[in-house]
Amino acid sequence: MQLARLEVRPKAGADRWGVENQASGYVACLYRQGQVVGEELGTWVGGDFHCYVRLTGRDALEKGFHSDQALEELRKLEALGEVGWELIGETGDPVVHWQDAEALYLTPSKIAPVRTLPKGEAVRIYTLPLRPLEIDELVTWGRRAHLYDDAWLDSGDLEMTAYRALADPESHLSLCAQDLAERIEAATGKPTYHWLMRGFTSDPATEATRPCPCCGKPLSPSLFDAGEWLQLRCEPCRLLTGVGDVSDTESDEEALIGAWTPDRK
Ligand SMILES: [Zn+2]
Repeated sequence: MQLARLEVRPKAGADRWGVENQASGYVACLYRQGQVVGEELGTWVGGDFHCYVRLTGRDALEKGFHSDQALEELRKLEALGEVGWELIGETGDPVVHWQDAEALYLTPSKIAPVRTLPKGEAVRIYTLPLRPLEIDELVTWGRRAHLYDDAWLDSGDLEMTAYRALADPESHLSLCAQDLAERIEAATGKPTYHWLMRGFTSDPATEATRPCPCCGKPLSPSLFDAGEWLQLRCEPCRLLTGVGDVSDTESDEEALIGAWTPDRK
């Protein structure tokens, strides 16, 4: 993660609110392409407007990674004043290229919804060869999936709703992940998996060879040592999932979420 500061020196007569609003519009475009994450922090220093953001890579501000909409918003901002960027500090983060990965997978993260296999490193999603609208969809999916992932423990009444969204292959969240993974694989040529949560089981003896929740064929061990949440896979479905824990299971209903049902397809 790289800290950066957008600096705007307004032209004479430009009003403060207009500058702040336009800077926010420009940063929002970078946010939708996964170049910026989290909240921005704007402040006036002397007569200049400064806006601090977190970048997902040091090259995130290169014009080649700007969407047409971001360039348009930048032009509007430049009409209001002199615009510059300052990168602050060195992160020491390794630069990860999706091209070097054996495979990719989607994971519920608002910062890095696409990761590499086998290492699990964060992909700078603005570098993926997708259309801006598709990257926007990916950012939206990651943010939504992160919300569910954050909510599924200790959230009271929300807990099972969040778990179902993450663990049921027919939830809207899961169907979107499958669709996005297919499009990423088509664009990159890299096998691209989606991840399905598995927290509960009522039969630990057969849990690791249970039927794939999407197609009913037996799951097999993951090709990649990428953590306990990813230890099982279905290659035809491009699915990665884990092994449920019987000690956490309070009811059969929990174990049935994400279980294969023959009438599914
Ligand atoms: Zn399958």
